[in-house]
Amino acid sequence: MGRCRTRLSQGGLERGRRKKGLSTELGSALAKETEKLIGQGALEDFESFEIALRDHALRLAARMVERQLNADHSDAATSYKPCSCGGEARFVDRRQKSFLTVLGEIALERGYYHCAACQRGFCPRDQLLGLDASVSPGVLHMISASAALVSFEESSELLVELAGLRVNAKQVERCAEMVGDEIIDDERRVVEAADAPSAPTLYLGMDGTGVPMRKEALVGRQGKQEDGSAKTREMKLCTVFSAEGHDADGVPMRDHGSVTYSAAIESAASKDPDDEPSEFAGRVQREATRRGFERAQRQVVLGDGAPWIWNLATDLFPDAIQIVDRFHAKQSLSQVAKAIFGDGSPIAASWSEQRHAELDAGELDSLIAAVADHRERNEAARRCCKHLETNRLRMRYPEFRSQGLCTSSGVVEAGCKNVVGARLKRSGMHWTLRGAGAIAALRAARLSRRLPDFWDRRRLSRKAA
Ligand SMILES: [Zn+2]
Repeated sequence: MGRCRTRLSQGGLERGRRKKGLSTELGSALAKETEKLIGQGALEDFESFEIALRDHALRLAARMVERQLNADHSDAATSYKPCSCGGEARFVDRRQKSFLTVLGEIALERGYYHCAACQRGFCPRDQLLGLDASVSPGVLHMISASAALVSFEESSELLVELAGLRVNAKQVERCAEMVGDEIIDDERRVVEAADAPSAPTLYLGMDGTGVPMRKEALVGRQGKQEDGSAKTREMKLCTVFSAEGHDADGVPMRDHGSVTYSAAIESAASKDPDDEPSEFAGRVQREATRRGFERAQRQVVLGDGAPWIWNLATDLFPDAIQIVDRFHAKQSLSQVAKAIFGDGSPIAASWSEQRHAELDAGELDSLIAAVADHRERNEAARRCCKHLETNRLRMRYPEFRSQGLCTSSGVVEAGCKNVVGARLKRSGMHWTLRGAGAIAALRAARLSRRLPDFWDRRRLSRKAA
């Protein structure tokens, strides 16, 4: 092997020696530290030992990367580089900046170019390495994974505990929102139709839930507060899943791993009389295309009583079977019972039990009659009557059951709680419009197992740029 080296240029030989030098240096430094720690009795507390050694190894690796990259000036080999504005940017100098990587902080000296045409400056190396703001792609990935699941504060704590990375909650928020914004954009642009629907029957559920907002995101909005003001904005959710499996009683159950979500604070009302689809209708359509919903042998739309859901379902999927989520229907009957007979009264309990049984048995005439008895004196009963009459075709539960359809028992609502509630509605949280949208997009992508594809596309598009 040694002889082949003679073919290398002098520079190559130098690099080869340097590399070998570095790796032995790194190896022996690590060996020395390991011996030292073990000599100090570190193995009696293996946890402290492994963490100390990991931190040491990472610090050494960070110094090595720093040295290698800072010695390499190929990022500024020419005096001019093309600028994205079309102009020419001129080399100015080499500038130092600290970045947080999975190895810890590294200080890089990068060639800096300035474009006189657009007055913008940039470092080609930052673009090549994908260094956004002040964190590396690896750190951005970790921040996103964590902030999709838990609060910014908890993410900050987890990053220290798991990866030894110090990122404060504000930085976590900034980075996670930046990635969330990119996911929002990616979701609109990339709509790859499924090769085939994942099951013969596909279900599409829609629901809405209020997200607590900061004051500035609520200016001029009407709400349910006594003075007519609002505290929340409605986030709408679309979920697609299959239910080919059954429970012990033969009731169709949602298939684990078949569920995808898409959520945003968007209007479901068409903007103009030309029937241009609403923002949310566009989102539902994209999700349906991705899942092959319209190509499924049977299509089912599930929702509660909200009129926007059924308007949208009729417009977008005229062939779909429409079903009011049974869990929702029962929940609203229980609420009416409370409104009529008082919360916790035994008569309320037995009354709602009877109504639930009528609902399950498809005895809608007697169900509606029983509620109608109270509608003159009770506003909740009056509204419920109207709801039952409007939706009775969507509550033919015995018929749906005989067709083997899932009439849901809170699947859609559980989706809303899981995607939106568990991350955006925790106590003390108040969101900006941008923040709520970005984190909902990030979380929905994560729970729909779409983040790996997103990161792949992001890497490729940066390379192309
Ligand atoms: Zn420029």
